[in-house]
Amino acid sequence: MSLGSFASVGPDSKHRAAPLPRPIANMKTFSPDSSVASDVIPSPNYGERNRGLLPDMIVLHYTGMPDVEAAIAQLCTAGTDVSAHYVVLEDGRIVQCVPEAKRAWHAGVAYWAGEDDINSRSIGVEIVNRGHDWGYPEFPLRQIAAVIALCRGIMLRREVPAHRVLAHSDVAPSRKKDPGEKFPWHSLANSGVGHWVQPAPIVRGEALKLGTINDSVRDLQQALARYGYGIPINGKYDGATMEVVTAFQRHFRPARVDGIADHSTLVTLQALLASLPAEATAVAAR
Ligand SMILES: [Zn+2]
Repeated sequence: MSLGSFASVGPDSKHRAAPLPRPIANMKTFSPDSSVASDVIPSPNYGERNRGLLPDMIVLHYTGMPDVEAAIAQLCTAGTDVSAHYVVLEDGRIVQCVPEAKRAWHAGVAYWAGEDDINSRSIGVEIVNRGHDWGYPEFPLRQIAAVIALCRGIMLRREVPAHRVLAHSDVAPSRKKDPGEKFPWHSLANSGVGHWVQPAPIVRGEALKLGTINDSVRDLQQALARYGYGIPINGKYDGATMEVVTAFQRHFRPARVDGIADHSTLVTLQALLASLPAEATAVAAR
């Protein structure tokens, strides 16, 4: 499909994404890996996956830019050093920018479950949303349905387990907020995408917070590390611990994102660990 047709296929003119950036003149195009990707805008920003790794994770992002044109231009222009395999537009159209076999540059400095080359291990999906710096609108249902369809296909074809569909903020908690607390992980989980338990209700009571030093903090750090987060285990509720708890809440207890490990946060984390498949919990703490 040509870029011209891509730009005009809006079912709803409100979401029309024209004009989109043109592919670089000599950029070789390719057939989309996913049957739900409607178009390809090839990006030059990719490499080979290191150590012959195959993707067994999906990392979800928001674009965090004022409009879709700027976002696609950034992901598909040489020299920006960023890319993603897929971009999901607000109207549900899906554009592929990097072949799944290649290593896209979406995660940056990141860590999950013993792996720090997240780009070599993952498929990166950018979801068009202006993000926290630009008003952070709700994700339209049509867009979420497209994310679900895309992820289900990748999970099936690549044998990605549900618990390895993650947020950028999970793998880079000190730097990233995306896709953020408005992202409806529960809806994805209802369709088998991602790992989720009903968050425990928020109640008054004791909480671990910045400055606390005790064995309960160590237990919390160990539990977060066992789930996959990169966190030092030192018994001190330090800045790094607060950032990881904040990332955990954005994903798994979005009703309150404050970096304080209250009862609800701790119970939700334990419930998630208890419901992980056995082979997933062998993560050695760093
Ligand atoms: Zn991101």
